[in-house]
Amino acid sequence: AEVLELSEAVAKAGMPEAVEREVRKELARYERMPEAAGEAAMLRTWLDWMIELPWKLPETSPIDLTAARAILDADHFGLEKIKARIVEFLAVRKLSPEGQAPILCFVGPPGTGKTSLGQSIARAMGRSFVRVSLGGLHDEAEIRGHRRTYIGALPGNVIQAIKRAGARNCVMMLDEIDKLGRGFQGDPSAALLEVLDPEQNATFHDNYLGTEFDLSKVVFLTTANQLDTIPGPLRDRMEVIALPGYTAEEKLEIASRYLVPRQVRTNGISEGQVSLSDAAIARIIERYTREAGVRSLEREIGAVLRHAAVKIAEGATPPVAIDLDHLDGILGPAKFDNEVAMRTGMPGVATGLAWTPVGGEILFVEASRAPGKGRLTLTGQLGAVMRESAEAALSLLKSRAAGLGLDPGLFETTDIHIHVPAGATPKDGPSAGVAIFVALASLLLDRRVRSDTAMTGEISLRGLVLPVGGIKEKVIAAAGAGLHRVLLPARNRRDYDEIPQTARNRLDFVWLETTDAALREAL
Ligand code: ATP
Ligand code: MG
Repeated sequence: AEVLELSEAVAKAGMPEAVEREVRKELARYERMPEAAGEAAMLRTWLDWMIELPWKLPETSPIDLTAARAILDADHFGLEKIKARIVEFLAVRKLSPEGQAPILCFVGPPGTGKTSLGQSIARAMGRSFVRVSLGGLHDEAEIRGHRRTYIGALPGNVIQAIKRAGARNCVMMLDEIDKLGRGFQGDPSAALLEVLDPEQNATFHDNYLGTEFDLSKVVFLTTANQLDTIPGPLRDRMEVIALPGYTAEEKLEIASRYLVPRQVRTNGISEGQVSLSDAAIARIIERYTREAGVRSLEREIGAVLRHAAVKIAEGATPPVAIDLDHLDGILGPAKFDNEVAMRTGMPGVATGLAWTPVGGEILFVEASRAPGKGRLTLTGQLGAVMRESAEAALSLLKSRAAGLGLDPGLFETTDIHIHVPAGATPKDGPSAGVAIFVALASLLLDRRVRSDTAMTGEISLRGLVLPVGGIKEKVIAAAGAGLHRVLLPARNRRDYDEIPQTARNRLDFVWLETTDAALREAL
């Protein structure tokens, strides 16, 4: 009876003929096996997998572009260019469903909406959505599965995801493609290339299934925090869509339109029972979070609303209003209280801007001095390039000493220590040159750096300011940290167009040709 049931299920599964023949052969073998045999259990598991895989292609209706646009708007604030690109992507798929659509790769810091855009795309296409995490994966078999003769063998995670999705035309998001490892057991990126290759993926071979499975109808999307660690051949296959992060104003909109309503629902309150003022949200953004995305923001909002939920449960009369002065009591003292002003309160500290895979960041360059013999010490996990730019900054300052009114003998009798705190994060690159130079000048001239100003730029030994990368992310970070001015290399002017309007509104931009100009503007 069991075999009969299985046989009927096989007939209904809609497998390709060759696969069905193979499965029936195995089913016949299964029938003859003694039930107690270990192999019987293994074979049964395999038969179940084969039967349950969604071999049949579900019906799809053509994509409705107007509805798709509405779904993207309903799920996400802003991101206009990205939404427009996604609508284009959908339009191309609509016009030629069999054609080779590009694979979109969403690149950006955590919590900027990569996953949630993928979910929207699936919704807009009327397809199911699954995620596969590639982070830390280093064995090809994790993608392709182990042969079923291994104890405990399973299909690879692509086939597992197909089963979870319940449809072989699902939208499959391959997360953290930049964190794909590489081990002794074959190169997972080679297997992944095959998965993503429209020429090959119709006949994708999973070791556990032992047969081919057609992945050609899957809509693949990928996500990454950074581009440079994605293996080249994979990167060439994909079209990159960058999500650089949000300004404080954008976060406020996202919070009041999406995060607060969602957290209200999640915490079992209703809209009318609590009110969280815009000022309070803005304070949470500025003083309790420091991130390019909105993930911690949502967590902090959740904490505030749970506090309100408790009040209501204890009998407070709704609506419970939460405003600025309640935050300390609920969330504790601000985590990022006036950090810039505090740090730059003394000579020798300059606020720099760094690019990291998780977005822009402000960092402080601290210089201090002690009587000595002209030694330079560098600490704070600085990479070789950054060390060199510190040496260049010091040489430059020496050569400018007279013009700045510094006693040239000073350098022989003073030891200088440059430290770039915040952490365990290794820092490298030439872009802190200006900040290091300014910090050194500030120290030796005994004049504070303006606390409203952050800076980035490489310096040359002749006192020129050279262009650097990551301007958009850095500027967003400066605006987010509450600064009012940024000093940027003049030759980065071309990046201005990329900077979001809200960040432009908040900041004054000063374009530097020379390090002399940097000192004039910073001190
Ligand atoms: P990670 O790299 O950590 O996976 P992610 O980019 O995938 O991050 P998501 O999970 O998509 O981040 O986003 C985090 C949360 O922020 C989600 O709940 C998402 O809905 C919300 N969010 C992000 N951007 C927006 C936006 N523009 N409008 C509305 N909500 C947003
Ligand atoms: Mg994600």
